[in-house]
Amino acid sequence: MNIHEYQARELFEKFGVATSKGHVASTPEEAEKAAAAIGGSNLVVKAQIHAGGRGKGTFTNGFQGGVKLVHTPTEARDIASKMLGHALVTKQTGPEGRVVNKVFIAEAVDISRELYIAILVDRATSAPMIIASTEGGMDIETVAEHTPEKIFHVSVDPLLGLQPFQTRKIAANLGLRGPLMTQASKLFTALYRTFIESDCSMVEINPLVVTPDGRLLALDAKFNFDDNALYRQPAIVAMRDKEEEDPREVAASEFNLNYIGLDGNIACLVNGAGLAMATMDIVQFAGGKPANFLDVGGGATKDQVCAAFKIILSDKNVEGILVNIFGGIMDCNVIANGIVEAAREVGLKLPLVVRLEGNNVEAGKKTLSESGLTIISASTLADAAQKIVAAVKAA
Ligand code: GDP
Ligand code: MG
Repeated sequence: MNIHEYQARELFEKFGVATSKGHVASTPEEAEKAAAAIGGSNLVVKAQIHAGGRGKGTFTNGFQGGVKLVHTPTEARDIASKMLGHALVTKQTGPEGRVVNKVFIAEAVDISRELYIAILVDRATSAPMIIASTEGGMDIETVAEHTPEKIFHVSVDPLLGLQPFQTRKIAANLGLRGPLMTQASKLFTALYRTFIESDCSMVEINPLVVTPDGRLLALDAKFNFDDNALYRQPAIVAMRDKEEEDPREVAASEFNLNYIGLDGNIACLVNGAGLAMATMDIVQFAGGKPANFLDVGGGATKDQVCAAFKIILSDKNVEGILVNIFGGIMDCNVIANGIVEAAREVGLKLPLVVRLEGNNVEAGKKTLSESGLTIISASTLADAAQKIVAAVKAA
C-alpha cells in the first residue's frame, strides 16, 4: 500500500522527522487559505498523486510541472486551480496520468544541497538497509547507473536497531558535519523508527535538503507498506486512497482475491498462486497473452468465484477466459456453480475454457454440462491453454 506525500509528512511529524510546514487542500480556495495560514512570500504548491517525478511532469491541460513555487496566497489559488481536477503525467504514471484531487501547500525553503536517503528491506541480508546519496533531487536509478560511487549502503541489524555510529557514518558520507551531523543523526533515527513502527517495506526522502541557514529537512517522501502487516496498522489503512489504485484490484481485495491486472487478452481464474503463475506461463507458451493474475485461494466460496468473474470481465481487453482449478481443499463443484452463476448473471459471450481436476470433479463437470452454457472443457493444463488461444483466434 502507498500513501500521499501530505500523509507521509503527517507520519514524519508524528515520529519527529523534520519537514517544512504545510497544509493539504482540495479546492483553490482552501489552497489560498492554507497559503495565508503558512504566511511568508515563499510557498510551494505540490500536486498529490501516488507517483514521483511530479516536478518534471505535465498536466493533460498543458500546464507544466506538478511542483510550483509561488509568492502569494492568490497565486497559490491560481496554480491550485490549474492542477486540481486535471491529470498529471509523469514518467511513473503512464501516458494517461493521474487525476490530482488534492494539493499540498508548503513553506518553500531555500536549498543549498539536495540529498537522498531511503530505508528498505534488503532481500540479500533479510534486514533493513539504508541507502543514502549526495545526489538528491534526481532519480536514484539514474545515480546508480552513472555515478554508483555516490551511493552509500548501511545494513541495520533488526535486533539492535540503527546505532548512533551508523547514523554518524551516513551523515559523514553525506558531508554533514558539526550541528548538521547532530540533526542528521536525530532525523535518521526518527526515520528508522517510522520505518519499523509503521511496518514499511520502503521509505524514501528525495530530496532531503540542507538550507542556507543550516537546517536539514525532508521535502518529499514516498512510503510503501507491507500489506501483510496492515491488519495491525489501522491508522495507515485509514490513509488508503482507493482512487489511486486499479479499480479491479480494489474490487478483488474486497472479496479477498489475489488479483493483478495485466495487459493481455486471456483472463485466467486459478486456485493457488503457483498454479496461477504456471497457467500464465503456459498461456504465453501457447501463443496467448494473460490479461491478469488471479488466485481465488484454496477455499473460495461461490460468491468469490462470481466476484472474480465479474472483475475479469470488467477488463475491456479480455477476449477469452481460462479457468484452471485443481481441487485439493477446493471443491470443484463450488467453482462450477460459481462459474455458472456468474456466466448467467453477466450474460457471458466470450469463449470459456474450463479445466477442472481433483476433489468432487465429477459433480463439477456435471454442473457445467447441465448448465446449457457453451463451455469448452479441457483435460490438462497444456490442452486448456491451446484451446483458449485457439478459441480467441477463431472468435
Ligand atoms: P517529485 O518531482 O515528485 O519528486 O517532487 P519533489 O517534492 O521532490 O519536488 C521536486 C523538486 O522541486 C525538488 O527536487 C526540489 O528541487 C524542488 N522543490 C520542492 N520543494 C521545494 C522547496 O520548498 N523549495 C525549493 N527551492 N525547491 C523545492
Ligand atoms: Mg522527489
